[in-house]
Amino acid sequence: MPLSILPEYDSSQAKKKYDQAVVIGGGFAGLSTARILADYCTRVVVLERDSPPESPRPRRGVPQDPHGHTLFPAGATVLNELLPGYGDDLLEGGAVENDSGSDWNYYYDSENVRADTPSRISSYNATRPLLEQTLRRQVATVPAVDIRTSHQFLEYLTSESDSVVTGVLARNKTAEEEEITADLVVDATGRTSKTVNWLERHGYSAPPKQEMEVDVAYSTGYIERPPDDVRGIIVEGEGGSVGFTPVEGERWQFWLTGRGENHPPTDPTEMERVAEEFGVPVVDEVLEKSDWVDDDVAHYRFPSSRRYRYEELDRFPEGLLVIGDAVASFNPIFGQGMTVAILEGLVLHHVLAESEPETLAGQFFEMVQPVIDLPWFMVTAVDSHYQKRSEKAPPGAESYIEYQEYVRQTAAEDGRVAETLLRTGQLHQPLSSLLQPSIVSRVFDDSEGTAVETGPPDWTPPALEDAWGVLEDNLTDPESIGEWPGVPETVQERETEPSLQSL
Ligand SMILES: Cc1cc2nc3c(=O)[nH]c(=O)nc-3n(C[C@H](O)[C@H](O)[C@H](O)COP(=O)(O)OP(=O)(O)OC[C@H]3O[C@@H](n4cnc5c(N)ncnc54)[C@H](O)[C@@H]3O)c2cc1C
Repeated sequence: MPLSILPEYDSSQAKKKYDQAVVIGGGFAGLSTARILADYCTRVVVLERDSPPESPRPRRGVPQDPHGHTLFPAGATVLNELLPGYGDDLLEGGAVENDSGSDWNYYYDSENVRADTPSRISSYNATRPLLEQTLRRQVATVPAVDIRTSHQFLEYLTSESDSVVTGVLARNKTAEEEEITADLVVDATGRTSKTVNWLERHGYSAPPKQEMEVDVAYSTGYIERPPDDVRGIIVEGEGGSVGFTPVEGERWQFWLTGRGENHPPTDPTEMERVAEEFGVPVVDEVLEKSDWVDDDVAHYRFPSSRRYRYEELDRFPEGLLVIGDAVASFNPIFGQGMTVAILEGLVLHHVLAESEPETLAGQFFEMVQPVIDLPWFMVTAVDSHYQKRSEKAPPGAESYIEYQEYVRQTAAEDGRVAETLLRTGQLHQPLSSLLQPSIVSRVFDDSEGTAVETGPPDWTPPALEDAWGVLEDNLTDPESIGEWPGVPETVQERETEPSLQSL
């Protein structure tokens, strides 16, 4: 479920229902959750095992820190609602504001695949350490929140029967073990979460796990950027991608990604060579004009997208929640993880308003699924296609991939289609936006609007005809289209076009 469908943050819902909450992990999910909880808890203690540096530099607990982190406008919008001033502070810290729709250049197989969009889609660009440090500083100003760094979570404290989590055991700054009681504990420890293991050791079932191998690796270095050049560049190819993200300090993050045997090199000269092989002149131009800031290249390997289906458990301890990467983490190439964590926090905000302690976990895990479904579908559909692993593809993936290919071709020339594609990929609009009649007729160059009924007349190759058949079924069969997450239940609802202005 994307931002445009989720109910907005509503400060009037704030009501102290819990005394003390503990959030384990001070990353993106932990910090935004702490802000959400502060509306409902008298005190919120965040335990973070790292001691983050004063200046925005990578830290150990977040090994992906040195690599490009795009904060989608959907995530930034919610953060600005929760913490007015977040965006301004980011800009003050040196973040670069640009327009995702016209300042970012997208290429696929060396072709420009994105026309400039009619609306401005403002976005912040910064290193992950600056994005997170700004968030940490903002959250630290919330009176109910107490962020304790150099505090390592060790174990949950529970009632005798293990049916209620009553707090945590942590190792504090002076290496002493400390018990911290809480009415509510939230695990936001990312992919290293120990909750699944804990459940199994304490007589609970483990949540069903879905996993899709991706074996993608990143190499990232920094090159100098002229202060007034705020362009971002992404070039995708079959085996990987190259990109330049404008960030603070008049730098571009210069990154390469590669799947499987195409893992990128870690040497600056080799990185430049691989980047040039993508065959896009703008890449060569940037590399020619810019010097490296230093020779440091960070490398990171991401094995798999992974999702735990906590909502399917019959039993789960009261007083415990899991959020962020600890529940679901996605192939990072799609740039969704932080925004998903923030949208999960928004769901928590609404669930906290309505639930009782005994029903909180069940309701939260149930209601957060639609938020995870959308990115999970997009990522696993594309990854199963790349890996030719049809048995791993989610239902509806094939028609989505086929149709998206048409959409992408049109988006190269048509700003309106480009905008819809961008906003769906950035978790702002539902995928059904791509199936609005006005978009479908643009995609099939069908100004009279008959394509929806008859199929595109001039498209004869069999593959396209097949794909059209699938799409046509989808357009007329609400159940089949319902396999695409974020799609409203009936075809009728789709026919009203949402106003882009109001999103
Ligand atoms: C290479 C790469 C690039 C990415 N690019 C993007 C992008 O462009 N856009 C995007 O939105 N997302 C991106 N992501 C995903 C993003 O990093 C994650 O989705 C996001 O960080 C999830 O936040 P989190 O708080 O759940 O987990 P994390 O950020 O991993 O934070 C977990 C925190 O828990 C702490 N912790 C762990 N164990 C303990 C313990 N025992 N006690 C106390 N503290 C503990 C850790 O120190 C850490 O601070 C990328 C990921 C990777 C790997």
